[in-house]
Amino acid sequence: MPELPEVETVRRGLAPYLEGATIDKVTLNRKDLRFPFPKGFIKALEGQTITSVGRRAKYLLFRLSSGKTWLGHLGMTGAFRFADFRFKEPSRYYEPGENIKHDHVVVHLTHPSRGKLTLVYSDARRFGFMEVFARDEDSPYLQGLGPEPLGNEFNAAEMAARFRGKSAPIKAALLDQRVVAGLGNIYVSEALHRAHIRPTVPAKNLVLKSGKPSTRLDLLADGVRAVLTEAIEAGGSTLRDFRDADGGSGYFQHRFAVYDREGEPCPTPGCTGTIRRIVQSGRSSFFCPVCQH
Ligand SMILES: [Zn+2]
Repeated sequence: MPELPEVETVRRGLAPYLEGATIDKVTLNRKDLRFPFPKGFIKALEGQTITSVGRRAKYLLFRLSSGKTWLGHLGMTGAFRFADFRFKEPSRYYEPGENIKHDHVVVHLTHPSRGKLTLVYSDARRFGFMEVFARDEDSPYLQGLGPEPLGNEFNAAEMAARFRGKSAPIKAALLDQRVVAGLGNIYVSEALHRAHIRPTVPAKNLVLKSGKPSTRLDLLADGVRAVLTEAIEAGGSTLRDFRDADGGSGYFQHRFAVYDREGEPCPTPGCTGTIRRIVQSGRSSFFCPVCQH
């Protein structure tokens, strides 16, 4: 499932082709993805110029000249590509496959310098969805989201205020989208390992009596930013490779330190631990029992 770095990589891949482009025609090959396409979806898009391609949490936000926003969520297998040229997979991650039966949305555009473009959205499992709304406040998906982990509002002091008195495990607290937006299972495991914090530690244990963040919470805030930034940079470099190589393998050959590495040696320098997997709230957590406590 794409997490924040993957969605950001998709955004960066699409932006140079879509920003400034005008939407000539939209074809929907079915009525729904995870949810039905909203009423008036095609009408809201056709004739509009895409002024910017943004992201909030795991949502792609295509801002339109009308002032409206076209929102896209990739679900588990959603991907955008351009049908026109050799660089086919600007948003490809995981297994590539030219299977047009999963092409659900086709958007014909004219870009002022690149000319005619055909943007295709495919989604084999159809957990993705699209929406269009007039103002961010009108979208239920954007309501109540916590700060962007790579933005200025995300910091240890902010987390301390949220975690004070919370006995929930730190893993669950970090997955709460009101605490930090867009963080998922993989990067929570990675950030906790980076900060040497065990995923089962009660969130309140990382807050001092004064309400200030502990040193460990400072490390965790840094860890969250670091793992996301590195993953985005890795995605970016893969994206550049794709332009030359015409695809082949997936987007994220990014190597994780602990995620999905049960039984392997801990990569922390000098640590002799072996990565363990436990299940928390029905989802796997990976950690090193020696250097995470
Ligand atoms: Zn370790």
